[in-house]
Amino acid sequence: MLNLKQARIDFPILTDIAYMDSAATSLSPEQVLNATNEFERHYRANVGRGVHRLTNIASQKYWHAHEKIAQFIGGENGTTVLTKNTTEAINMVASGTKWKKDDNVITTILEHHSNFLPWINLREKDVEVSVIKTDAQGSLNISDLEDIISENTKIVAVTHASNVLGNIMPVKEIAAICHDYGAKLLVDGAQSVPHIPINVTELGCDYFCFSGHKMLGPTGTGILWMKDADIKPLLFGGGMIGEVSMDGFTFAEGYEKYEGGTPNISGMIGLTRAVEYLENIGMENIEKHEEKLTKILIEGLSDINGVAVYGPQDSSDRIGVVSFNVNGVHPHEVAHVLDEGAGIMVRSGEHCCQPLMKHLGLKNGTVRASLYIYNTEEEIELLIDTIKELVRRL
Ligand code: PMP
Repeated sequence: MLNLKQARIDFPILTDIAYMDSAATSLSPEQVLNATNEFERHYRANVGRGVHRLTNIASQKYWHAHEKIAQFIGGENGTTVLTKNTTEAINMVASGTKWKKDDNVITTILEHHSNFLPWINLREKDVEVSVIKTDAQGSLNISDLEDIISENTKIVAVTHASNVLGNIMPVKEIAAICHDYGAKLLVDGAQSVPHIPINVTELGCDYFCFSGHKMLGPTGTGILWMKDADIKPLLFGGGMIGEVSMDGFTFAEGYEKYEGGTPNISGMIGLTRAVEYLENIGMENIEKHEEKLTKILIEGLSDINGVAVYGPQDSSDRIGVVSFNVNGVHPHEVAHVLDEGAGIMVRSGEHCCQPLMKHLGLKNGTVRASLYIYNTEEEIELLIDTIKELVRRL
């Protein structure tokens, strides 16, 4: 159950602000802060190296992070690699795949730069990169994918939920098409995992990437889940080997092969606690709470003359990321007014989605309010009233 009063108490930053920038990074509750602090104060040591007491405790907890996260996304049957963020996870797949001339990658215009540039960059290797356009609501016409996918398509890379428009992509359907052509599907789950129940096995994807810092965990935490651990590692060095000699080396088994160097141990211990926190509330309850707030927000903003709201209008078909603009006012100016006038933190600008902004003709980008478990109806009303007041003064 979501106990909003308790949730508010758990987040120390929430004294006199309304935080609506969780799509950029979420806040962390005391439980997560305590978990990372406990590592630093009581058993700080490196992991998987040596046999002393502290390293044993740290290693056990760090290993457990993999299990906990895999189970949270229904991915026990695959390999869960801990990374520093979604960007790193996607780059690991793009650079670790064996490419040959004329291989094809398909992505969409909706993507965050982190699920766009790693693919565009492959053009250097003579890989053909195709970009499918979506409609103004972010919807993909499945026949556009069917028209261009071919036996040469090696990877299709799509976002699960848009960080600008909030719409959810039909990943299952896309997975089935990919597999008909022998292509792999990479899903950017940065905006879905924190907000809706996820089962990567049911989704049918091959790679699933997301960020721990957007789901109450510490910054510098991310995940690459792979159905088959079939890519080359990005980092070579300590911790990822079986045996090394002057003549060469062998790889460690499983996820360790992909985690060269000392990892973000405290971060991953904090992320494990964040996953437990989300599980205790229940992802269905989180989804319901956000759906209710999103409905109020979209309806309230849409009712104001001179305000344009983007993305799907139906709150049951999307996540709580709501982009909007006030006619004649720069998004950064709107964000300033919300902060200075009402203590509301929102993101403004292009949201690392310049191709989409150009496609939608939004020169200055948008204002984006992104919601999470700690947001309240009162905060949503405050945002709507502040925008109404801004429009009245224009
Ligand atoms: N993909 C999407 C959809 C995102 O919203 C973000 C973060 N805004 C990213 C990728 C990149 O995440 P990170 O900065 O944690 O690598």
